[in-house]
Amino acid sequence: MTRLLVIGPPGAGKGTQAERMAAAFSIPAISTGDIFRYNVKNKTPLGVQVQEFIDAGKYVPDSLTNEIVGDRLSQPDVAAGFLLDGYPRTQDQVQELDRLLAATGAPLDVVVQIVADTEEVVARLLKRAAEQGRADDTAEVIRHRLDVYAEQTAPLIDIYGSRGIVVTVDGLGAVDEVTTRILDALAERGIHAA
Ligand code: AMP
Repeated sequence: MTRLLVIGPPGAGKGTQAERMAAAFSIPAISTGDIFRYNVKNKTPLGVQVQEFIDAGKYVPDSLTNEIVGDRLSQPDVAAGFLLDGYPRTQDQVQELDRLLAATGAPLDVVVQIVADTEEVVARLLKRAAEQGRADDTAEVIRHRLDVYAEQTAPLIDIYGSRGIVVTVDGLGAVDEVTTRILDALAERGIHAA
């Protein structure tokens, strides 16, 4: 049973690394960003509600986000563990996740913090914009997303840090190298991939 969380600024490679970590541990990766994008693309009622926030680089309101994660964590495939990518992002979401996990009696094992410098992440996001055409990857929205991260999400590192569960990994370099760094850092904590 492995319960992980990956946190880092937009463009640090969170999503890519989350998928690789989930594969290594054979656990589902739960990405709130992916869930939202799927709903926007399919124009579901949720998608219609969240689109304006995402396109503007703003956070979706906590009430909506918490509800989605609560539903997802109640599904049977998370019994063997899970990896949260992009949630929690606010202090309110941390409290909600604490509440959800307290109900299962199984707290988070480790929070993997991926760090990368701002210039590098902006360059990466602009490249992704050219490749994938994400509406929230324009230069202006990227800047806003980085500000929102610094204001609302970076403080979460202190919260989890005070619980002694943060592992910090340099997100710069080749994708494989970063994955190896993460898996090594987790192994040092006694969390070994299958
Ligand atoms: P991501 O793919 O994780 O960068 O998420 C893309 C966008 O989805 C974010 O910029 C937010 O608008 C929204 N989003 C994803 N996760 C959350 C969350 N935990 N809380 C609020 N908004 C979120």
